[in-house]
Amino acid sequence: MAQETQNHTLTVSGWAAHDSSGEIKPYTFKRRENGENDVTIKVLYCGICHTDLHYAKNDWGITMYPVVPGHEITGVVIKVGSNAGKFKIGDRVGVGCLAASCLECEFCANSQENYCDQIQFTYNGIFWDGSITYGGYSNVIVADYRYVVRIPENLPMDSVAPLLCAGITVFSPLKDNGMLGSPGKKMGVVGLGGLGHVAVKFGKAFGHHVTVISTSPSKETEAKGRLGADDFMVSTNSQQMQAGNRSLDFILDTVSAKHSLGPILELLKVDGTLVTVGAPDQPLELPSFPLIFGKRSVKGSMTGGIRETQEMMDLCGQHNITCDVEVITPDTINEAMDRLAKNDVRYRFVIDIAGRISNL
Ligand code: NAP
Ligand code: ZN
Repeated sequence: MAQETQNHTLTVSGWAAHDSSGEIKPYTFKRRENGENDVTIKVLYCGICHTDLHYAKNDWGITMYPVVPGHEITGVVIKVGSNAGKFKIGDRVGVGCLAASCLECEFCANSQENYCDQIQFTYNGIFWDGSITYGGYSNVIVADYRYVVRIPENLPMDSVAPLLCAGITVFSPLKDNGMLGSPGKKMGVVGLGGLGHVAVKFGKAFGHHVTVISTSPSKETEAKGRLGADDFMVSTNSQQMQAGNRSLDFILDTVSAKHSLGPILELLKVDGTLVTVGAPDQPLELPSFPLIFGKRSVKGSMTGGIRETQEMMDLCGQHNITCDVEVITPDTINEAMDRLAKNDVRYRFVIDIAGRISNL
């Protein structure tokens, strides 16, 4: 099922998964013509989020094949609709997870369109015109201007791309839980992958003491060195975990696979909060004792609104925060996906869609 409308006249080259093997192959398809609210963007770079892997392999049972993944998109505006005048040709822009929302509900009115119950995503969504959305593993994307952000001039387009999903997904719960503008907290980050490594950078930029809780002892040197973490715990080492009991104010859990929240919750002080952003296909284990004995809270969070995404981008511009990326060519997407599945990436793959390695 690849629904297009008569308005889908723009031929685009991309890469898609066609079944649950997840194998990505070149795929030519049509996008809608640039409408009055749209900008057309020449895609330069697109990050490979673990969510892309979940969709490619149909982990969540909701994939509409063929799926063109990609929601960490940076590029340059090449066409502007009559209502989209806040952008002009040549602007450096980014597109994240959101493609459409109702624009009327309390959440849309409040710049929290990510919680609109009619939210449609950049890929594997159904756009307003009834067509299936296709993501950033493609050379051109047409996006409604209300879901497009500007990229600060001082940031390179490749290492900025993952901020459009990984970045905003960790920024939003940090802000929402009082971790922005109140330095000196003890913060934990569980899982040092694409999301986790940005969370460490944000935690340090916001003045916190940051502890990484990881299954990979091999990541300790980098976590404490390049990423600036203060502490590192191996989650399978019960001695280390017990030593950290009741030490943290706030924990962000970014793990992509099933695991127990019990030992992690024990790390929180009384009344502490754990926000989970990871999306394993199996339910997390949530024992009640660490919850009730420590009056602790567990919350979720999904990406962020567009205003907040722009705020995060501008902050990254001011603090010069980008992601640690490995730039690949489109013909090696499958290898990269295999390595991502094996937890072998430091810390985000980014596809050089336009065929150049540059700092545009
Ligand atoms: P990633 O780069 O693969 O990082 C996930 C990390 O989780 C790994 O680096 C690893 O860190 C840890 N991990 C992996 N398998 C594990 C296991 N079996 N037990 C314990 N830890 C394990 O993935 P990502 O792109 O950061 O995405 C992480 C999750 O967030 C995915 O499920 C993705 O779908 C979800 N996500 C959610 C949102 C949202 O809006 N809520 C947005 C984007 C992504 P260590 O080696 O340090 O243990
Ligand atoms: Zn993502």
